[in-house]
Amino acid sequence: MTGSNDEGAPACQTCEDPVTENGERRVVSVVENGEAVHYEFCSVDCREAWDGAPN
Ligand SMILES: [Zn+2]
Repeated sequence: MTGSNDEGAPACQTCEDPVTENGERRVVSVVENGEAVHYEFCSVDCREAWDGAPN
């Protein structure tokens, strides 16, 4: 059996809370070393608090 889908929501990059579809979910996609990386945030505040994203 594979329970990989049980993981559900990814963790917010800033506060590590689970990012749910119900909240102010934000996803930032950046290209690092030729690969697309997606960063998940639980809210706009966490998105803005994160300093790892290029503008
Ligand atoms: Zn957060």
